[in-house]
Amino acid sequence: MSIDRNSLAFDLTRAAVLATGHVVPDPPRCVQCGICSYNCPLGLDVRAYVWRGAPIIDSQCLTCGQCVARCPRGALAFAPIGQPT
Ligand code: SF4
Ligand code: SF4
Repeated sequence: MSIDRNSLAFDLTRAAVLATGHVVPDPPRCVQCGICSYNCPLGLDVRAYVWRGAPIIDSQCLTCGQCVARCPRGALAFAPIGQPT
């Protein structure tokens, strides 16, 4: 059986992000449109986290990046845990 090295590398990268990072908001950029929450496949209320200025720390978060990619204001980003936002 062959190993898909590209897929493995992606999995390892994702695992590293899951272990060491999460989505963090830049609240002044947010216009509370809700697109992030609407596009979260787990239905997490990302907008509410941004409203509170809190990182999205939820055991259900897949760090899939949909909220980061869909935000029209660039108000979300991945950051290592412990890094000032
Ligand atoms: S998509 Fe961006 S601007 Fe809209 S509520 Fe979410 S963080 Fe705020
Ligand atoms: S990274 Fe994915 S699962 Fe996590 S809050 Fe954003 S859209 Fe939802």
